[in-house]
Amino acid sequence: MNIEQSKSLFAQAKEVIPGGVNSPVRAFKSVGGDPIFMSYAKGAHLYDEDGNSYIDLINSWGPMILGHAHEEVERAIFDAVKSSPSFGTPGRREVEMAHLITEMVPSVEMVRMVNSGTEATMSAIRLARGFTGKDKFIKFEGCYHGHGDSFLVSAGSGAATLGIPDSPGVTRGTSKDTLLVPYNDLEQLEKVINANEGQICAIIVEPVVGNMGCVLPEPGFLEGLRKSCDKHHLLLIFDEVMTGFRLSRGGAQELLGVKPDLTTFGKIIGGGMPVGAYGGSKEIMNHIAPAGPIYQAGTLSGNPVAMAAGLAVLNKLNDDPAIYHALERTTQAITKGIAAILDQMGKKYHINSIGSMYSLFFTDQKVIDFETAKTCDTTLFGAYFRGMLNCGVYLAPSQFESLFISSAISASQVVSIIESTEEVLHDMYLQN
Ligand SMILES: *Cc1c(COP(=O)(O)O)cnc(C)c1O
Repeated sequence: MNIEQSKSLFAQAKEVIPGGVNSPVRAFKSVGGDPIFMSYAKGAHLYDEDGNSYIDLINSWGPMILGHAHEEVERAIFDAVKSSPSFGTPGRREVEMAHLITEMVPSVEMVRMVNSGTEATMSAIRLARGFTGKDKFIKFEGCYHGHGDSFLVSAGSGAATLGIPDSPGVTRGTSKDTLLVPYNDLEQLEKVINANEGQICAIIVEPVVGNMGCVLPEPGFLEGLRKSCDKHHLLLIFDEVMTGFRLSRGGAQELLGVKPDLTTFGKIIGGGMPVGAYGGSKEIMNHIAPAGPIYQAGTLSGNPVAMAAGLAVLNKLNDDPAIYHALERTTQAITKGIAAILDQMGKKYHINSIGSMYSLFFTDQKVIDFETAKTCDTTLFGAYFRGMLNCGVYLAPSQFESLFISSAISASQVVSIIESTEEVLHDMYLQN
């Protein structure tokens, strides 16, 4: 495979951008090799600067659930651009967006738009602190909630890949208010709550984790969180930046039947544009300025072009819930295909999947939390990633990320993904 243009661009990028990338998860540090620079994408395919094509299994880390350059989304964006990309005043699309979100996600009665998932979670925690008057919050090891200071403690995703447990620059004063509990461990949760009685504002959780690879809540875990929050008067925050509008119209909370007090969104909600949001009951949300005293603002929040893109995607998902069944069928066809190959070879592995998310873990253990995720053989994963890339399948360049299926992936592309997987796994294990 010729990747001369990518190599040259990466060399130029490293001179003027830290590490040559604008987000660490795009680097190939943990899998080896240089990152591929994409030039355009359409439907299920990415096309790089050298003209190679790849079936895309990350879909911009989630947002491109309908595939790339979807015609209706494109048209909505063009329409918005023609009327000026920003006003700095309220606009019609923001109202439509807020109504649509409250319709699709019943626990959300009121919503504030921001510009990224990171902003959404930072703002939700500020709101939880301001509303309850308590400083501490609980997060789970390996869950990623964006790069806000107070979340960069055992943060999964890029931080796990690069081995940055606590980032320099995050003060001890900040991280002391972040209490850590292993995912899926209700016993430990109760201990931590009791040891900090009266000081905790909220529990924040990925209801399905995407950021230590795809990890599912054990039966009863989310229900247990809801119960603990009710018992101890804590707010339950579901970080649905990844799962929102992906696992169902109403996200993980609808699929799994547990209602949070606050929800954060990102990724799909912007249809590929930089958007985030947080929402909940009117009672809580009315504490945000200018309705209430808790300050949170944004020059470009609710930007018309971003709203247009997000609305086009959400309306499509809202109008056609059959999309979710099709996405799940595609995902299961891929994971079953991979499982059959590895079973036949007699190799140990673990696959987690739900809806249109999945991860293949190179470990013999069931992956239920950050400890078990870390048992994976990341060297094997690197070989798998490079092999698939050479076959024209673009995976997330880290063992600790979920893959995201789009509705643009066809049955014949599923077949070619499985054929590539078979070739790559055979090569890999022959060499080992
Ligand atoms: C991606 C992600 C974030 C951060 O969103 P950005 O838009 O990258 O700031 C937060 N939480 C979860 C669960 C995510 O997957």
